[in-house]
Amino acid sequence: MDPHAPAPVRVLIWHEHRHEKINPRVADLYPDGMHEAIAAALRLDPRLRVETATLDDPNHGITADRLADTDVIVWWGHMAHHEVNDDAVDLVTRAVWDGTGAVFLHSAHFAKPFKRLMGTGCDLKWREAGDKEILWVTRPGHPLVDGIDDHIVLPHEEMYGEFFDVPEPDETVMISSFSGGEVFRSLMTWTRGAGRVAYFRPGHETYPTYHDPQVLRVIRNACHWAATRPTPPVQRFGKHDVGWMDAG
Ligand code: ZN
Repeated sequence: MDPHAPAPVRVLIWHEHRHEKINPRVADLYPDGMHEAIAAALRLDPRLRVETATLDDPNHGITADRLADTDVIVWWGHMAHHEVNDDAVDLVTRAVWDGTGAVFLHSAHFAKPFKRLMGTGCDLKWREAGDKEILWVTRPGHPLVDGIDDHIVLPHEEMYGEFFDVPEPDETVMISSFSGGEVFRSLMTWTRGAGRVAYFRPGHETYPTYHDPQVLRVIRNACHWAATRPTPPVQRFGKHDVGWMDAG
């Protein structure tokens, strides 16, 4: 071990982990759950320390202490968004405002913490018909697409189409096209408080998307990118020297 190496980025992968328990197709693809498929890939990177939590853990695996020990939270949910208790949503939202990164995957566009952070409806068009998806890089050189060529092809995925009801992002890093002709902003970033937020589209549970090395590379990139904290926000309400405003 290099004693001067920076501390690893502390990643918490949060997963609903329900489809795997009821759908044999999903269980075949992800016998240990999608969270463990993603975690196994991220654990190959010695600059990441990776833990997982699921909906059915006590407190959904989310506590203030655990979030204080987390640099980036990765979130996948779909059929049980409504079961996530509001205390957990408050904790995650406040952690992001305080600088924790957050990466929302696929159907987490409707996850409570994502909707809270966006402040919009977050709806979109969708079709589950095994479309071919091509994700095109629109920001070459961006750290989120480090190691990615100018596009990624996924032979079969669920289609998501515009309009995607989110606030105008800081950056649109990838755009998808689908067999049916639809397009979708599939990799976007926002800043919320001191925290970096990314949304990455692919990852429908009945496709092997989280075994795709390029998809996993983007998620790994996102963990490093989101953990890089931007400049802290202006202290608006604390006591401070107002300087010239006091004069006269
Ligand atoms: Zn889906």
